[in-house]
Amino acid sequence: MSEQVGELLPPTRLMLTPGPSSMDPRVYRALATPLVGHLDPWFMEMMGDVQVLLRRVYRTENRVTFPISASGSGGIEAAVLNPLESGDEAIVCVNGWFSERMAHIAERTAARVIRVEAPYGRAVDPEDVRRAAKGRKIKLVGLAHGETSTGVAQRLDDFRKVADELGALLVVDAVATLAGLPLEVDRQRIDICFSGSQKAISAPPGMAPITVNAGVEEVLRARKSKVQSWYFDLTTTMNYWGKERTYHHTPPISLIYGLREALRLVLEEGLEARWERHRQNQQALVAGLEAMGLELFVSNPADRLITVSSVRVPEGVDDVRVRRQLLDEFNIEIAGGFGPLKGQVWRVGLMGYSCQRGNVLLFLAALEKVLLEQGFKVPAGAGVGAAVRASLAAPESVTIGNRK
Ligand SMILES: *Cc1c(COP(=O)(O)O)cnc(C)c1O
Repeated sequence: MSEQVGELLPPTRLMLTPGPSSMDPRVYRALATPLVGHLDPWFMEMMGDVQVLLRRVYRTENRVTFPISASGSGGIEAAVLNPLESGDEAIVCVNGWFSERMAHIAERTAARVIRVEAPYGRAVDPEDVRRAAKGRKIKLVGLAHGETSTGVAQRLDDFRKVADELGALLVVDAVATLAGLPLEVDRQRIDICFSGSQKAISAPPGMAPITVNAGVEEVLRARKSKVQSWYFDLTTTMNYWGKERTYHHTPPISLIYGLREALRLVLEEGLEARWERHRQNQQALVAGLEAMGLELFVSNPADRLITVSSVRVPEGVDDVRVRRQLLDEFNIEIAGGFGPLKGQVWRVGLMGYSCQRGNVLLFLAALEKVLLEQGFKVPAGAGVGAAVRASLAAPESVTIGNRK
């Protein structure tokens, strides 16, 4: 670093990735408001607003509902480390990279972990969980509602039923789904649910909202040993987010401002309207991709995750070059595959503020140009045409940013 470091000037990208998503200008504004101390009476009161908003977005009355100061992975740590201790047995449903991460984290505890797997691109069969449990005392069943690495969604109600039969807690990774598709913690009786700030909520990365019900609080009180992580121990963090507001650690105050505004915008739009917007735009995207001759990685449409669509990279097309050109020429970022899907798929996220009809059309048009230059034949305007027709069929046009 010999020369003077210049002004910070990030490019203006459209993030169509599985997170982070692009942010509403009002969230940027919230981030730039004055810093106060984390024990300032004003801030402590504002924390209460964040919790009220979070409960509404999660559709829960749970007392223990707050953002953990960590990315989504920190949410997994908290959700798994808090209930598990020596002598426990847990089932983790593994059908991709993030549910695998939950298994890895659970395996670091003293509990015994049973993996119930499904091939990448498929949903886990709740029947397999039943079979794997056979007569065992299972403390929890964990799964990813939306498996972002493959673009697969799980039907939570089926797993609730199995967990009830087993007398187990249901632990749900909703990092990729909260505020993007239907999820109601109390009605669906999810015991522990966590998310990430940077996906369908469209706040900056760095916060993992979590909610746990009274039954889980009971389980935590009954622990014989201490939670193996000090930082993620919910019983002590809750003293800061609870009535006492006792210092635990310094939270990322500016990020909490951003999260507050993003949650407020989720509720201003309305959860149902937001879910519908995500559904409509995903349908338009899928129609466009298929009309271009591309193949969705998840073959069963009912298993497809609304917020992230995975598409097979066509034969003879260079995965990295396509993504690089989308970025350089159009300022659009999409994601590649990882783990066993590296080089095999593209993952296109339509989450939160990024999930707009105009973005779907722009992306399909840009992809057509890039694919043509790579020698992949696309009928002229096929993707955009199909997406426009899919949108026409939609019962109502849901747009964000336009006040009525
Ligand atoms: C993104 C994601 C995570 C990890 O979140 P980070 O913020 O990257 O730590 C975990 N689970 C799912 C389903 C995700 O989509």
